[in-house]
Order: sequence, then C-alpha cells, then structure tokens
Amino acid sequence: MIDTPEKIFELPSKRIIGSVSGALPGPTLIFVGGIHGNEPSGVYALQKVMLELADQKDELKGTVVALAGNISALQKGMRYLNYDLNRLFTKENISNLHSDLCEFERECEEQQELCDAIDKILNERPGPFYFFDLHTTSGETVPFLTVNDSLLNRRFTKQYPAPIVLGIEEYLDGPLLSYINELGYVAFGFEAGQHTSKQSIQNHIAFIMLSLVFTGVLSKEDANYEQHYQMLHRSTIDKKKFYEIIFRYRIDGTHIFKMNPGYTNFQRIQKHDSLAVYGEKVLKAPYSGRIFMPLYQGKGEDGFFVIREIPVFFLWLSKWFRSRSLDRFLVLLPGVRWGEPKGEVLLVNKTIALFLAKQLFHLLGYRSKKVGASHYIMKNREKASRTLEYVFESWF
Ligand SMILES: [Zn+2]
Repeated sequence: MIDTPEKIFELPSKRIIGSVSGALPGPTLIFVGGIHGNEPSGVYALQKVMLELADQKDELKGTVVALAGNISALQKGMRYLNYDLNRLFTKENISNLHSDLCEFERECEEQQELCDAIDKILNERPGPFYFFDLHTTSGETVPFLTVNDSLLNRRFTKQYPAPIVLGIEEYLDGPLLSYINELGYVAFGFEAGQHTSKQSIQNHIAFIMLSLVFTGVLSKEDANYEQHYQMLHRSTIDKKKFYEIIFRYRIDGTHIFKMNPGYTNFQRIQKHDSLAVYGEKVLKAPYSGRIFMPLYQGKGEDGFFVIREIPVFFLWLSKWFRSRSLDRFLVLLPGVRWGEPKGEVLLVNKTIALFLAKQLFHLLGYRSKKVGASHYIMKNREKASRTLEYVFESWF
C-alpha cells in the first residue's frame, strides 16, 4: 500500500469518485482508476483532482467524471479477487452481464456497475466523449501511454510528452479500452510508474491535468499546464515516439516464471539476450528492440513484451493508406477474404499470412484479434471511429 500522509487519499467505497460539470458547455471526460485493485495510484490522483475541480466550476467547460474500477479488489490491495476485471470486456461477457450466465463471481458485480455507470454517462451527457484508463506497473518504469491503433487515438495522444505504445489490443482479450474503442470513442491508457511509488500519483495528476487542457475542459492557465507538462516531460523518455508491440511471452501457468534481474521498461535488448527463466527453460529475446512490461511481481499472464519504434515514415504512410480506405484492395490478395461485417473484418489464411507481413495489415489499420483453426481474424479499427464527432475539437 502506498504510504499517503495526506488525509484526502482513501480507498473508494463508491463507484463514482467524483463528477463535476462546468458552467460552460464542453466535452465529457471519463477517467477510470484502479480497474486493477493493486493499482490505487490513479484513484488517489482522481480524488485529489476532483476535489480541486469542484472549486473551479466557473472556469470548467463540459463534464469530468471519475470512476473507481475494481472496488472490492482495491480494498484488499489485490489485482483482482476471482477474475481480472480488465479482461472481461468482451461483447459476449457484456451481453451476459445482467443474466445468470455471468460466471465471474465478485467481478460480475464490479463489471455490471462499471458498465451501468458508463452507459448512463453516454446516454445522459453530450459528446464528444473521452476515456482515460489509469494504471501502474509491477516493475519500475517511466510513464507511457498504451493506445489502440486508430488514427483518432494517434492524433489525440501525440499531444502528451510521453512514449506511446500502439497495438496492445492484439495481445489482450477483453480490456475495457478495446471495448470503448470499438464503440468509436477516443480511449487509451496511461501507465504512471511503479504500483507503490509516490511519484506515480504525481504523474497521474499531471496526466489528468494535461488531459483537461488537451480536451479544452480547462485553459492552460487554470490547469497550471506548464508545471504539469514539465513534470511529465522530465520523468519520462522518448517523448511523443510511437512504438509497436512485436512479441509477447505468454505464461501458461504450468511453471514458475522468473524475469532476470535488472531489466527496466523500454530498455534496449539484442536478439538472443537471456531475459527470463520459465521452469528449466532459459527465455531469450526473439528480436532486437526494447523490453516492455517485464513481470517482476504479482499475478499476470504476460512475462514480457518486445516493442520497436515505428519510423515516422510508416506512421505517415499508414495515415495516407487508411484515409484513402486502400484496405478494400487487400481482398485481391490470395488467401484474404472479408469476414463479418464486410469491410471491417478480414479472414486471412494462416499460411498466406506468413508471407504477407503483419506490418502490411497494420499499415492499413487491421489488427489480428482472434485465431481460427485455419485463419486469422483481423479487425479494422478505423471503421468504428466516430471521427466526425471530433472534427471541431481544437486538437483535431
Ligand atoms: Zn493495470
């Protein structure tokens, strides 16, 4: 538990940490803290910011709502009680939520309440909507953003002075953010630092305040922008660079996973470097790049990821391809056909996919989501984006 001398920090007992509507019209921002119960830093930061915002209603445009994620896990200081809440947001689980079919014990209740709170905001508040998911990591890290790869998310997140990691949705099932992204809204995650570090709370506060400015909710002066920008700028590296996940080591739970000591997030690694031990097996880096989210403590299914910087030219090229919907020509390639819905989902034959580099699909906005018996199911992020709802925003 983080040692917090300031009395305002307390573990939440209610879903809504705070909700403030300004005197002037504007967007609706939804922050979620502590969807992992061993990550209270985002909750503490939201408690502090929401208290201050309550005194700034006259200057505030729009609405800011702060939600607590997994309340029962937060109270026990555990990532989750029965199931990882941030892996339950699949379409199937959500349709089962209010029925007897929900089988995730304590997390069913948490997910029901969280979904109801989000639905209520979406139904009652005006857009455009922005979602921010606040996390921390088990190992030491500089702050960074995790972003589902859509042009809308890219355009918004490049305002922050922090590295941006694209494509996490390809490796995780059912995170809250992917669900919100599929609804078409700007939604992404911020990892502020190590779980128990006080600096993580400061980084979360800086991130929240910058988000209020970037969305136009507060002016730079009213948000003390320079101070927060400089603080985040100083505490991270490789500002505004985009990275892509190229490998994940998934732990199947049959052995003990032990990361070799001394690896920090974003540290450069060479192919064949020894990274970890799984049972008797030494795990070596399959690629050169940077190590990402090495698992040093607690529960988790992912041992480590390898990421690589995306060259600026590729970022530009993918924007050019996607804005012209050139993906419609992909089905002319052998072994590639439309799935359901047509124009949004591609079925790619596994043998063929080996020859067609994954990068080609990424360039055109497709990320592999599920693996069928003979083919990959790839989903286009761009089709769902509610781009028109954001075109009049200052950052667009
Ligand atoms: Zn987390």
